[in-house]
Amino acid sequence: MSYEKERHMMVESQLRGRGIKDERVLGAMETVPRHLFAGPDMEDRAYDDCALPIGEGQTISQPYMVALMTELLELKGDEKVLEIGTGSGYQAAVLSLLASDVYSVERIDSLAVKAQKLLVDQMYGNVTVVISDGTVGLPEHAPYDGIIVTAGAPEVPSQYVEQLKINGRLVIPVGSRYSQVLYLIRKTLQGIERHVSTGCVFVPLIGKDGWTATEIY
Ligand code: SAM
Repeated sequence: MSYEKERHMMVESQLRGRGIKDERVLGAMETVPRHLFAGPDMEDRAYDDCALPIGEGQTISQPYMVALMTELLELKGDEKVLEIGTGSGYQAAVLSLLASDVYSVERIDSLAVKAQKLLVDQMYGNVTVVISDGTVGLPEHAPYDGIIVTAGAPEVPSQYVEQLKINGRLVIPVGSRYSQVLYLIRKTLQGIERHVSTGCVFVPLIGKDGWTATEIY
């Protein structure tokens, strides 16, 4: 089953209907087969208006949140983007249609391996999945035009700002273990501009500059 009708309805009602305007983002989410990333157990719920479990206690984010975070990056097509939190690989697939190079970091081996295989099988060839602690960014490929963090951080890890280009954009949920605020942070020649987007709830960003595993249970 291709789920084209469900995907179109998701784009029109959940995304366009809630104010997502970037036609490139809407087009990418009309294209990427979210049901493949949600996996066989969740396939028939893949286009529902919610996050879904993907194993290992992790989730594939709600479609609206994927669209909003991607729109905030204002991608034009020639950018190098870093994603922290590969998870299912869905967000990385969306980014791959909107940017030139995508690096995606995941700390859980099994999720990273599964996502990389799916991304290769589905021909998202400009995505590289790296298994490591993404709280320190990915210095070997910096600087980035955009960084998107798909797990909730207690505060903004300093490496992310350091690894952004001037005029680069960082989208990151920051707050407590149980609820966060989505920030858009712009790095300018004059310093950092921070804008609040919306409230949100993400699984925790765990690592050296994030939560420790013991803090979250
Ligand atoms: N973007 C994903 C998708 O499209 O399916 C959803 C990501 S899920 C909400 C958050 C992910 O962040 C989880 O897979 C989790 O293992 C990962 N994560 C948490 N801390 C991390 C860290 N320090 N480095 C890399 N990944 C991390």
